[in-house]
Amino acid sequence: MNPRPINVTEPFLPPLEEYVEYLKGIWARNYLTNQGPLVRELEQKLQDYHRLSLPVYCVANGALGLQIALKALGVKGEVITTPFSYVATTSCPLWEGCSIKFADIEPDHLTLDPQAVEAAITPKTEAILATHVFGNPCDVEALEVIAKKHGLALIYDAAHAFSVIYKGRSILEWGDVSMVSMHATKLFHSIEGGFMVARTPAIAAKIEWMRRFGHDGTDRFHGVGLNAKLSEFHAAMGLSVFKHLPAILAQRASVIAKYQTGFAEQRRVCPAFKLRGDTTWNHAYYPVLLESEALLLRVMEALAGQQIFPRRYFYPLLDVLGPSAVACPVAGDRARRILCLPLWSQMSPDSVRCVLNALKTSIK
Ligand SMILES: *Cc1c(COP(=O)(O)O)cnc(C)c1O
Repeated sequence: MNPRPINVTEPFLPPLEEYVEYLKGIWARNYLTNQGPLVRELEQKLQDYHRLSLPVYCVANGALGLQIALKALGVKGEVITTPFSYVATTSCPLWEGCSIKFADIEPDHLTLDPQAVEAAITPKTEAILATHVFGNPCDVEALEVIAKKHGLALIYDAAHAFSVIYKGRSILEWGDVSMVSMHATKLFHSIEGGFMVARTPAIAAKIEWMRRFGHDGTDRFHGVGLNAKLSEFHAAMGLSVFKHLPAILAQRASVIAKYQTGFAEQRRVCPAFKLRGDTTWNHAYYPVLLESEALLLRVMEALAGQQIFPRRYFYPLLDVLGPSAVACPVAGDRARRILCLPLWSQMSPDSVRCVLNALKTSIK
């Protein structure tokens, strides 16, 4: 029996003293929220780190970021999206009053299949909302062509794509708007939070004011906004975690390398996706594909008996939230057979071994 449960992930906490240093600054300034100096410092660091030409804007969480993206781009009607993602990818457009049309995913990459997207377009379609699922880039070139040809907005749910580089540049440079989540369970976090990247200064400017009630100074408004501000306390966590990024990325890569070696000769389980070519990945998740759903359920039960709790990302398919006009057989199949194994930066070699042994025994 393991001394403590091994969950699918654990948040990274920086040394407490480093966070406290930032808190001292907050106490000295007595400036707690509303685009304070820590938020601005974090935004600058995120922009520089991803080598983006336009500013990035922090928001209170990634889901609000998706809602703001839809509003900033004026999307009100039909949105084509993937059923194989976290619930927010579907719930945010629905919450904004849009309608959803699902398109199937590519079997190897698990991202939206551009052909399926194009086939799903109708005169009512206004936007494509695609997820770089598990940090694997979408077929951004093909989606770009389709969006241009049909005059559609192109939004990326880049919640998993922090630090991902595609063809030598940040993946966040693609699309009209990208949203990255900084939730506690993500690779890089500010407890709750997210940030947004826009393609044009005009859209970036809208995002900037939409996230803070639309204020234009103290007595004027750019337009209608909402409250999606990141607080100084959250930014302080982001800045504290930021210093440890190189170690976080390297440690996660080393955990995954151990998993990969351990699985090399297994027949009934394999890595769930193929990395798109010319990508520097971020090792955000380690999803595996099992031979069948029955095997997956058996494995989960056996692992739970040893206090090991992988998670079915992403299950169920998001068409449970609304009727799906188009069948998505690939997404359906993958949702039934993919399991995300425990992974976090400070996961001990012992824990990795535990998971591997339990898995190997249970798939026999
Ligand atoms: C985490 C996540 C979100 C939501 O981000 P929050 O910051 O938690 O609101 C959206 N999409 C995907 C794919 C996610 O994994």
